[in-house]
Amino acid sequence: RPRVLSGIQPTADSFHLGNYLGAVRNWVSMQDTHDAFYCVVDLHAITMGHDPVALRNRTRLSVAQLLALGLDPDRCTLFVQSHVPEHAQLGWVLSCITGFGEAGRMVQFKDKSAKAGQDSTSVGLFTYPILQAADILLYQADQVPVGEDQRQHLELTRDLAQRFNTRFGQTFTVPSAYIVKDTAKITDLQDPTSKMSKSASSPNGIIELLDDPARSAKKIKSAVTDTGREILYDEENKPGISNLLTIYAALTNRAIDELLEMYDGRGYGDLKKDLAEVLVEFVKPIQERTRAYLDDPAQLDKILAIGAEKARAVSAVTLAAAYQNVGFVSPA
Ligand code: ATP
Ligand code: MG
Repeated sequence: RPRVLSGIQPTADSFHLGNYLGAVRNWVSMQDTHDAFYCVVDLHAITMGHDPVALRNRTRLSVAQLLALGLDPDRCTLFVQSHVPEHAQLGWVLSCITGFGEAGRMVQFKDKSAKAGQDSTSVGLFTYPILQAADILLYQADQVPVGEDQRQHLELTRDLAQRFNTRFGQTFTVPSAYIVKDTAKITDLQDPTSKMSKSASSPNGIIELLDDPARSAKKIKSAVTDTGREILYDEENKPGISNLLTIYAALTNRAIDELLEMYDGRGYGDLKKDLAEVLVEFVKPIQERTRAYLDDPAQLDKILAIGAEKARAVSAVTLAAAYQNVGFVSPA
C-alpha cells in the first residue's frame, strides 16, 4: 500500500463543503487503499496571527469533524502536528538547505504577505512551505494529494528531498502528487468563479458543515444562478448552476448526467429546493457525531494520544536518520 500524508489547518470553527468534497471525502476512501497519515496542522495555523483560545477550540473541532466525517483511527493515523516534535525539528534542518530566493518564489507567500503587509508578515509564513516539506518527508510518504494551490509547495518538497539525499545520502522518499479523479472543486455560492474558502468567502458564499442547517438551506436557495432557465452543466457560461450540480452529484453519489435527466424541463427553483433538502439531511448526522466527539473529551484525547504515538513511531526513525546523515553526534 502506498503511503499518503495530508493535513488540514484548524483556522476556522467549521469545515466547509469544499473541504469535505474536495479533500476529506477522499481521505476517508484512501483509508482502504493507502497507508494513510492525516494531521491537523496547528503549527501552520499560527503563521498568520491567531487567538490561543480559538486555536485550541478549532483544533479539537477539526479532529471531531474528521472523525464524524469518517476517519477511523483504527484504519489511519490521525494526529495533531504539535504533538509530534519531529515536525519542527526536521523543519529546521530543511530550512538550512533551502535557498532564500527559492523560498521567496512561493506564490502563496507572495499573495498572503501582500495582503497582510510587510509588518504583519511573520517569518513563519515565509518558512511555512519548508515545514510542510518536513510534514511529508518525515513519514516517507509516497504520495500527497494536492490541489492546484499546493502544487508549488509539493515541488519544493521534492527538490528538498532530492537535495538532501544527494548531499547527505539516501534519507527521504521523494513523494509524488496524487491526483484524485472526480475531486470536486466547490465554488463560492455568491461568486461562483472563485473557490469556496474559509478566509475569502463571504458568509452567504460558504456552506459550513456545522452551521444551522436551516441557514445553509437558505444559502443554497439564494445562491447566485445564471441567466437563462435551463439546467445545464456548463462551467464557463453557467458557473452557478454547474456548482450546484457538482455539489448535488457529490452528495448523492449520482452522475451529473443523471441529474440533468431528472431536472430536464424543470426550473432552477426545483433544483435548489431539492439540493437544500439533500444538504440538510447530509449535515444533520455529521453535526450529531461531531457533538458526540466533543462531548467526550477524554475519548478524543485518547484517540489523539494513540495517533501521536503511531506517528512518532515513524517520524522518530526518519529524524534520527536525518540527524545522523547531516552529521549530528547521537546523544549517548
Ligand atoms: P483558507 O481559505 O484559510 O486557505 P481553505 O478553505 O482553503 O482555507 P484549507 O485548510 O487550506 O481550507 O484546505 C484544506 C483542504 O481542502 C485542502 O486539501 C484543499 O485543497 C481543500 N479545499 C479547500 N477549498 C476547497 C474548495 N473550494 N473545493 C475543493 N477543495 C477545497
Ligand atoms: Mg487554503
